[in-house]
Amino acid sequence: MAQMRPSYLGKIHLRWCDTCHVPVLARQCACGAATRSIPVTPPGDARPAFPSDVALVNRVYADHFGAPLIPEGHLALLNKVPEKDRMEEVIAGGGIAGIIRYFPHERRWEPVPRPEACTLFSPTKRYVMVSDDAVPFIRDQGMSVLAPGLVHIDENVQAGDEVFILAPDRTCIGVGRAKVDAATARGMTKGSIVRTRRNVASQVIPGAASWDDAIRANSHELERAENEAVQFVRDVAGRNPHLPPNVSYSGGKDSLATLLVVKKALGKVPLLFADTGLEFPETLANIDAVAQEFDLEVIRTAGGSAFWETFERQGPPAVNARWCCRACKLTPVGDLIRKRWGECLSFIGQRRYESLTRARSDRVWRNRNVRAQLSAAPIHNWTALHVWLCIFKSGAPYNSLYAQNIDRIGCFMCPSSDMALIHQIENTHAGLWQEWTGKLRQWQEGAGLPASWITDGCWRLRQEGEDDEDSHY
Ligand SMILES: [Zn+2]
Repeated sequence: MAQMRPSYLGKIHLRWCDTCHVPVLARQCACGAATRSIPVTPPGDARPAFPSDVALVNRVYADHFGAPLIPEGHLALLNKVPEKDRMEEVIAGGGIAGIIRYFPHERRWEPVPRPEACTLFSPTKRYVMVSDDAVPFIRDQGMSVLAPGLVHIDENVQAGDEVFILAPDRTCIGVGRAKVDAATARGMTKGSIVRTRRNVASQVIPGAASWDDAIRANSHELERAENEAVQFVRDVAGRNPHLPPNVSYSGGKDSLATLLVVKKALGKVPLLFADTGLEFPETLANIDAVAQEFDLEVIRTAGGSAFWETFERQGPPAVNARWCCRACKLTPVGDLIRKRWGECLSFIGQRRYESLTRARSDRVWRNRNVRAQLSAAPIHNWTALHVWLCIFKSGAPYNSLYAQNIDRIGCFMCPSSDMALIHQIENTHAGLWQEWTGKLRQWQEGAGLPASWITDGCWRLRQEGEDDEDSHY
């Protein structure tokens, strides 16, 4: 989506141990070695790259540069960067080894190279080679690649392509964007061929490791974070002995980590699940799996017809008209709590690194739409990596959507999704998405909107006046 992510939410904790070749959330690795910081772009809530994510990155790099970026057996993480649609930094070997950027209209990812990538892989396509005497100007001064210094240009290079710049011994001395195609470049005797791009330097040191290694390396910090969260849960529950506790469970990673903490602090508590009727099948399966694994009662709101009734009157929910949360989640949950307990204490997997609004919110609060629920966020200060390491360590069953390049768990058609995610869902959940597009089409035709309102994802953002109910006649 086009909304700007806040640029800074707090300290970035992501560091790397070059002895263990794993990410570490502390200045010292459990092995005793000092860790070094990774210059990720804020907010810096990096998450583990799952095998499907590694496959995506490697496919994008292999298509463009002729070789996969992330070597077998290496750990990688992805870090979302503020962008029009989606851009991810690829962290491997303890540095930013590359970037992938999504172009929604062309439905494709583009790799943005970093010179450090060449410690992990060797490009065989879309590179240029320059003469020894040109090297210092490009490498040290960031000057463009000029025709006289060009030794070789790969035949696949088109104007506008991202390229690696190599010295005659094939070491990488820079990256940039080609200004002309290979054939044109070969005929040139003067002028600029590649505009070099300067990057924040980032050390990439290859080395294989597993996520079990990462858990071991982070054992002190995980223990510290878990103990703090457990103590918080006990404190809140102790201050509110009249409120029956539960875990607000969504099927996402943050609520699973919250459950693990609450279980440690209080033992068994029920799961409170707001079934919006717009859940992925994988999410429903995960609720069952988790309830079974830990032998917990699931208290759920019924999917109901609230969503489609509101849709009939107002059209789809949008980022700036999110009637869905109140209609499908808050109101039914409030009703359920009043009926079942009168009032309750819910532990929620909210984290400050998710957004600025959440960074500013208290750790204990009451939503004004659900007064009967006192909410508390045990993992408020955790990063996504804390959450994942805690889950990996426990062996708890997490939602299988995460293994399908879907990292945002919630209503499948959430208008806050970017187009990269929507296109992914179109691929993995074609039936579900076609049904949704059918509903959108009815509204689009009825309202006289262009077809691009659906295909470009414009339905996710209300235009001025469009959400004025009275205007729909
Ligand atoms: Zn270490």
